[in-house]
Amino acid sequence: MSPRDYEIDELISAKRIAARIEGLSREICDTFAGTDQLVVVGLLRGSFVFIADLVRELDLPVEVDFLEASSYGDAMESRREVRILKDLSGEIGGRDVLVVEDIVDTGFTLHHVLGLLRSRGPARLETIALLDKPSRREVDIKATWTGFEIPDEFVVGYGIDYAQRDRNLPYIGTVRFT
Ligand code: 5GP
Ligand code: MG
Repeated sequence: MSPRDYEIDELISAKRIAARIEGLSREICDTFAGTDQLVVVGLLRGSFVFIADLVRELDLPVEVDFLEASSYGDAMESRREVRILKDLSGEIGGRDVLVVEDIVDTGFTLHHVLGLLRSRGPARLETIALLDKPSRREVDIKATWTGFEIPDEFVVGYGIDYAQRDRNLPYIGTVRFT
């Protein structure tokens, strides 16, 4: 593999991420206290590290499932199409569901995924996004819980990639081309 032609500047340390997840987990446990079995749905692939850390902080009965969506951008269109590449393995009708996303950017992905999941009749449907770029929003949507609001910068690490690289960084950093 070719060497990186960019630098990564740390934006959010592993320590800050862990502390934030601990706080968010307490709120999630309060919200879902008494749930039969919470279905935690990770949106692949960017949320895989976040969901792994998050579920280990949840003192609740949980089931873990995954869904993969891809979005097409069309420079000439303000709307974007979202395709489901991998659907859930389990059923969510009548269940409590928590959708786990890495970044809410324009909002199209989360909007589409929530519409699909809502159509299956969950008892409760909430969302958590590790990162939010509110300045980029095109669809009026907000996750129930957000880890960190960040500026309009391209980020990598902690599960989030640049051309499939850097998902294994323990922190979140911004990409700077050299
Ligand atoms: P949205 O539909 O909200 O525009 O898209 C959100 C998705 O775009 C995120 O789940 C993520 O996969 C991708 N995305 C948005 N911002 C970034 C970023 O800064 N870095 C990376 N690697 N992906 C991003
Ligand atoms: Mg994503």
